[in-house]
Amino acid sequence: MKIIAARKLLKANDQLAEENRARLDAAGVFCVNVVGSPGAGKTTLLEALFATVAGRVKPAVIEGDIAGSLDAERIAKLGVPVVQINTEGACHLDANMIAAALGSLDYDAVDVLFIENVGNLVCTAGFDLGEHLRIVVLSTSEGDDKAAKYPAIFQGSDALVITKADLLPHTNFNADRITADMKRLAPNAEIFQVAALRGDGIVATADWLVQKLSSGR
Ligand code: MG
Ligand code: ZN
Repeated sequence: MKIIAARKLLKANDQLAEENRARLDAAGVFCVNVVGSPGAGKTTLLEALFATVAGRVKPAVIEGDIAGSLDAERIAKLGVPVVQINTEGACHLDANMIAAALGSLDYDAVDVLFIENVGNLVCTAGFDLGEHLRIVVLSTSEGDDKAAKYPAIFQGSDALVITKADLLPHTNFNADRITADMKRLAPNAEIFQVAALRGDGIVATADWLVQKLSSGR
């Protein structure tokens, strides 16, 4: 019987992720892995960001979903190049899937590639995709205890975007609590509060991203 240890699989993933990163570096494409629960507002955040950076940067998206292409259709409507990955049950993207998707990108038409991961706060933390930056998205309706309960995904992220901030008056979400937890887990991470449907906080988030993009390439 052949037994494959999960640790070895992760090592193979890390190696593929490095290859993806090298490929993106060579093409001059900055890559951002966007993680968060289903319904956190990842796609809505991307839509709002794209409206704000239009003309400044050329984005593209790899959409990861278990099934269907609903989010990819929303992105395509904005005229942004998009590749859909259907994981057919798998609850996260891995570097191998990204390697396959990278083949269908026109690098000349892209400055920054966003990967919208499968909605999941757990195992997405363990899979480097070859990105330069990871953003974790958490909505106010999910609760302020999530960094304490799912530390790995927050620990490895470069920014926390708190979405649906306009709902704050209607929830018991304590922004100070999550901020303190995030500062403990990832002291250098930026924290943004946005209400993407209304555009609140989007300019600050976009400016930070554009600055990372220009210093990261
Ligand atoms: Mg989405
Ligand atoms: Zn998973």
